[in-house]
Amino acid sequence: MDREVPVLVVGGSLVGLSTAVFLADNGIKPVVVERHPGPAIHPRAALFFQRTVELWRSVGLEDEILEASALEFEQNGAVMSVESLAGKEVEWFFRTVNEGVEDLSPSPRLFVTQIGLEPILRRQAEELGADVRYSWETVAVEQDGDGVTATVKHRDSGEEETIRAPYLVAADGAHSPIRDRLGIPLHGHGTFSNSITIYFRANVKPLIGDRNLSVIYVFAPRLQGFFRFSLAGDAGFLVVNKAIGPDGELSADLWGDTGDAKCVEFVREALGDPEIEVDVENVQRWNASAEWAERFLDGRIFLAGDSGHVMPPTGGYGGNVGVQDAHNLAWKLAYVLRGDAGPELLDSYEPERLPIAEEIVEQAYARYVLRLAPELGKEGLHAMADDAAIDLGYRYRSSAVVSTNGDDGLFADPREPSAEPGVRAPHVPLKSGSTIDLVGRRFVLLTGNPEWQRAADEAGIEAHVIEAPGFAEVYGPGAVLVRPDGHVGWRSDGEPEDLGAVLDRLLAR
Ligand SMILES: Cc1cc2nc3c(=O)[nH]c(=O)nc-3n(C[C@H](O)[C@H](O)[C@H](O)COP(=O)(O)OP(=O)(O)OC[C@H]3O[C@@H](n4cnc5c(N)ncnc54)[C@H](O)[C@@H]3O)c2cc1C
Repeated sequence: MDREVPVLVVGGSLVGLSTAVFLADNGIKPVVVERHPGPAIHPRAALFFQRTVELWRSVGLEDEILEASALEFEQNGAVMSVESLAGKEVEWFFRTVNEGVEDLSPSPRLFVTQIGLEPILRRQAEELGADVRYSWETVAVEQDGDGVTATVKHRDSGEEETIRAPYLVAADGAHSPIRDRLGIPLHGHGTFSNSITIYFRANVKPLIGDRNLSVIYVFAPRLQGFFRFSLAGDAGFLVVNKAIGPDGELSADLWGDTGDAKCVEFVREALGDPEIEVDVENVQRWNASAEWAERFLDGRIFLAGDSGHVMPPTGGYGGNVGVQDAHNLAWKLAYVLRGDAGPELLDSYEPERLPIAEEIVEQAYARYVLRLAPELGKEGLHAMADDAAIDLGYRYRSSAVVSTNGDDGLFADPREPSAEPGVRAPHVPLKSGSTIDLVGRRFVLLTGNPEWQRAADEAGIEAHVIEAPGFAEVYGPGAVLVRPDGHVGWRSDGEPEDLGAVLDRLLAR
């Protein structure tokens, strides 16, 4: 055995690096193996919702990521649709991306590309002791009762090593080789477009005018997709999901001709300017799919991110759900590896994350069909949920939540916040900061009643007695025990009781 590590993370893109940051922040120093030679070179994900930004805030990265965002994007831009950039506006989905959600969280929604984000995640993970190894590919994985053994190979030198770990996180993307090897099937709507992303340079500033636009869906007569532009308005990318094919019909298979001439034609069509000078820099092919894995867990191997769920970019959820998978898993792995929780705690990962991921795939699919591809049919389409509820309202049900109400649906309304078991402990503004800033590393008791302090002291739990206006309406008259991931694990509206027993139950001790 060349090396033994506490956790091996396969895949070092958005979700693998996030897993490493959250693990390392919990004192667990993983090895991350990534076959690419460095962080992302394509922008891909850019819209990050409030919950994801809260998670970055909890590990001290929010300000730095906001700065990176400001280098790339006008803040708080619109999400809208046009017939072409120069032509008619069709619909404004959000006038500003934070419209109506400013009071729900101390953190804003923001845009930052994976190019801007991944180096920050990498640096933080490494500073906290993670070992991020680029140009290494995992070529074999085996597991037994005690752990996982992976063979990794350097892509240039061919050098091989074996790495042994009690647990492995497969953050190896939509085509996850590990998921395939485990024979975990996918369910959902399959692949419905062979899409392309065209990265180009062009002076689009005059066409944007004084509009602050973050994502622009395009419904041109001969093409459908979406744009994002650089801050300077001199470059951008166009995703093409559908275009008129050689037979004169709209086709969702764009992989036939991706030559420069064709791509320039697409960009000009979507910009609505047949003369504009366009320089194509790169073309990426990818599948628009909506699928989730049947299981997120196989023995000691966990699927996180696109390996567990793929969805079309409509909505901008894919990366967010992946970061949240990583966060859910990291504290559990840390507690189990430190011996602070029974290994059964890890069994709560799948029942907590899989139903949420499945529903968010359905939400992204519904947006894809309704905004871009009505021909796929509305039958069985899930009713569109509110974005704020998808982002901040998801409820967990598992052995790691003590809950009495079982069938409230997957999403609570964050505009009517209640610190009920399973939801993210809601934001209540404090004199400085937010309740969100009190939680997110260990178990914490939040209460308005000082009598609970002694119960918390006896159980060795950090407690905060809060007098802020509005707190009692949201958190109730008793106490709320918040898990290290900021979700409510248990709540009592009654008199102080034995919190040690509650903790033992939540941690499967
Ligand atoms: C055009 C576009 C726009 C998008 N916009 C948004 C958005 O606005 N918001 C949002 O939240 N999401 C968005 N998404 C989705 C988002 O990009 C993905 O959900 C996210 O990147 C998934 O991250 P991941 O780390 O799970 O997978 P990936 O980014 O696919 O990373 C997997 C990594 O694993 C590595 N790997 C695979 N196998 C091995 C192996 N055997 N050994 C070593 N390494 C391996 C790969 O090299 C890769 O780097 C968008 C996607 C696209 C295509």
